[in-house]
Amino acid sequence: MNKMIIITAPSGAGKTTIVKHLLKVFPTLSFSVSATTRAPRPHESNGKEYYFISTDEFQQKIRNHEFIEYEQVYENQYYGTLHAEVQRLWSEGRSIIFDIDVKGALNLKKIFMNEAFSIFLKPPSFEILKERLLNRKTEDKASLNKRIKKAKLELKYQDKFDYVLINDKLEISLAEAENLVRTFLEIQ
Ligand code: ADP
Ligand code: 5GP
Repeated sequence: MNKMIIITAPSGAGKTTIVKHLLKVFPTLSFSVSATTRAPRPHESNGKEYYFISTDEFQQKIRNHEFIEYEQVYENQYYGTLHAEVQRLWSEGRSIIFDIDVKGALNLKKIFMNEAFSIFLKPPSFEILKERLLNRKTEDKASLNKRIKKAKLELKYQDKFDYVLINDKLEISLAEAENLVRTFLEIQ
């Protein structure tokens, strides 16, 4: 059976950290690389974290129905899951892991149902979420405020996911995430 693991959370809750760990632990997992119109951060490269494309290219892909789902996650920043990416990985017999915003995660779960296991990462508190975003030092003030504002809304959707994982102590969260994935992928 084709399988996908959907990791979602407000920005700064720990998606990237946990997804990277799971990719290391499970060799049959592959990351679904999304398309985005946001600029690459230092150390990000095209085709690895994202396919970095222009807004024109993104709009062309929308018109061509190339996305399973897409969102304007932040003002002028589009992100989308490509049909071609999912088809390619499944055709290679891989299981797929997604790092995706809350709305996108709900959409994927609705489409893929039992093929998908969705995990909502919850920060221990709102204050800690802010602190993690600040410490990451990747956002300017405006972007930081946008992300924090959105996080308040996103936390309201936690009950709609298969599992809510509180990302407090990192080692414990990583072990918990591993167990969930191992069970879903039926790995002994
Ligand atoms: P997201 O991908 O959800 O935006 P990140 O994985 O980039 O979040 O995590 C945000 C920041 O918080 C990063 O600097 C990361 O190293 C840190 N972080 C993640 N999980 C924890 C944790 N359990 N305890 C402390 N810091 C964490
Ligand atoms: P960042 O800019 O921090 O990499 O990501 C911003 C947000 O966009 C994160 O919540 C991330 O999970 C989400 N995201 C990444 N790819 C996709 C995608 O393909 N679709 C949707 N809906 N959200 C995505």
